Amino acid sequence: MNAPLPTSVLPPVQAADLAALPLIEKWISFASVSRDSNLPIIEWTQNWLEALGVECSRTYDDSGKKANLWATLPAENGETKIGGLVLSGHTDVVPVDGQPWETDPFVAQIVGDRMYGRGVTDMKSYGATALMMVPELLKRKLKRPVHLAFSYDEEVGCIGVRRMIADMVKSGYQPAGCIVGEPTGMQVVVAHKGKHAYKTSVRGFEAHSSLTPQGVNAVEIACEFVANLKSMHQKLAKEGPFDPIYDVPHTTIHTGVIHGGTALNIIPRDCDVTWEIRHHHMNSPEDLFTEAKAFADSLLPAMRAVAADTGITHHLNSVLPGFATDADSEIAKLCFTCAGTDSNSAAGKVSFGTEAALFHQAGVPTIVCGPGHIAQAHQPNEWVELAQLAWCERFMRRLADQICVN
Ligand SMILES: [Zn+2]
Repeated sequence: MNAPLPTSVLPPVQAADLAALPLIEKWISFASVSRDSNLPIIEWTQNWLEALGVECSRTYDDSGKKANLWATLPAENGETKIGGLVLSGHTDVVPVDGQPWETDPFVAQIVGDRMYGRGVTDMKSYGATALMMVPELLKRKLKRPVHLAFSYDEEVGCIGVRRMIADMVKSGYQPAGCIVGEPTGMQVVVAHKGKHAYKTSVRGFEAHSSLTPQGVNAVEIACEFVANLKSMHQKLAKEGPFDPIYDVPHTTIHTGVIHGGTALNIIPRDCDVTWEIRHHHMNSPEDLFTEAKAFADSLLPAMRAVAADTGITHHLNSVLPGFATDADSEIAKLCFTCAGTDSNSAAGKVSFGTEAALFHQAGVPTIVCGPGHIAQAHQPNEWVELAQLAWCERFMRRLADQICVN
């Protein structure tokens, strides 16, 4: 390690107090970056569950190199399908390429009050803690089924879970609730924003860079489009509408990737812009897109006056719906009890998207609640406080008290 890592200001939790630690360390050791196969972590987890007698099934992606794992612990009366509780998490992590890590990202390492490693926050600690509870849940017998739902490719657009949910519905599972363990600092989160992702492609007209009036510069037009997105965003940030429960209380518009041009002495023909709208329930993403498109259309006459087959096209790359669960619902109340935040005034709303929206869309009332904070996700030296891991364990133990017979 090159420099000492900062230590926590929260009361210390000893690593020895954490029952889930060996399982978290094991899960971190799988370099299950989204672009690669996640089969090693799925294989290991399935073997671990089957050794306890838990029935597992998989759904694969088209290549057969990635899989979701669905495991069911039946209720004492033998019920497996109806009224169960889903504990859901993704097995993939974002890449570490080019990030200045001070520890091996795939070796969980405790320094002071924190654990470092890729996925300690987003979101292997929750899945591993749920696994840790399995022997106890089996021993204490369940009043209702419990399902573990471990997905692939969450980080590249919640891709894997869509197949798992389709399979869940087709197989006749009707869970009564779902807890997605994305990092919320163990706050009970009842809603998150939706996201629409777009690619806008500008087709200009090439010319020698000394002859600018004879070309249509795709990069410059793309920049005008991006600048307009930015001013749309600023208007939302200034004027709302606002939902003050969200960490970012307004809808946001953001440009993530811009790619165009080939050489300084060529007026660029093509430029692509990838951008997103993250909206709460008071804004329509369709209306905001229409506004952005209208601006793009206003640039066309000047482009076409120079070259006829220039243009600007838009492609909707992906849609992740938002979700909102009633803070008075059974699943929310259960989570308030387990998290130790008895009042539903503690309900949170977050701006980042999760698989919760897709469970919600399938008719399963869903909550997001997991250890760590989104600010540490996807970062170099990703960390989680040991106190958060202890809180997650306490949550799971209280959950067991609620759903177990003994
Ligand atoms: Zn995540």
